[in-house]
Amino acid sequence: MTKPTQCIVCSIVANQIPSKKIYEDDAVMAVLDVNGANPGHCFVIPKAHYPILEQVPDAEIGKLFQVSNRISTAIFESLGAHGTNIFVANGIPAGQTVAHFTINVIPRKENDGVNLQWQPKQLTEEELSTVELKLKEQTKNIGAFEREEKKPRVQAPRQAVLSDEEEEYFSRQMRRLP
Ligand SMILES: [Zn+2]
Repeated sequence: MTKPTQCIVCSIVANQIPSKKIYEDDAVMAVLDVNGANPGHCFVIPKAHYPILEQVPDAEIGKLFQVSNRISTAIFESLGAHGTNIFVANGIPAGQTVAHFTINVIPRKENDGVNLQWQPKQLTEEELSTVELKLKEQTKNIGAFEREEKKPRVQAPRQAVLSDEEEEYFSRQMRRLP
């Protein structure tokens, strides 16, 4: 039986690829990008494997952006950044290169040569109205957010061994047993 080819981000989560982890909890991890746009460029990832944003459960999206905000603050405080870009490439045409949802947190300083700019497109009134109508048709139901744990998770391949935290949790639970 052949093992399915594992996603590179899942390999980082499973510690099969060494990485510089800046933050980790049960659902989210923040890792230094070794080929980042600027020193301190981090990517914030769900530990479970979701290829694109649409597949990430609402509760995890909240957590991912909360962590991204904290990482951004840490970048301001510790690296003397003057700004940050919180950036998602969602889908291949948008520049996504790995099929595991990722939030980039990029430290910025003036004239640092990082280019995230685009040429503005001038739409006619008719084009704007058409786009507005199409979007509004789809956005009618926004606001009905899912409750946590409703959506089945796509679990990333896990290591057989327990993490230190899990190990500690279980040993604490064991000690409570009579
Ligand atoms: Zn993955």
